[in-house]
Amino acid sequence: MSLQAIKDYISQKKIICPECKKPIQKCDKYAETIDAVWDGFGDSRVDSRGSRITLICGNDKCAWQERTEFWSQYVIE
Ligand SMILES: [Zn+2]
Repeated sequence: MSLQAIKDYISQKKIICPECKKPIQKCDKYAETIDAVWDGFGDSRVDSRGSRITLICGNDKCAWQERTEFWSQYVIE
């Protein structure tokens, strides 16, 4: 998954905060390696390397955030 895919999930309110059970508001990328890797491969299997992010709840009175490679566990369908 690319960062853009994660942002799409967030904009669709499909990533839920485990603390307040509301859709989280934003994320930050903390793995910067993906763009450099991507150019040489263009292979979708590579992009999991870019999926380390910080999920930030951002809802009122909720300070939850988490750095994770396994953010998909928070995605609802
Ligand atoms: Zn929350």
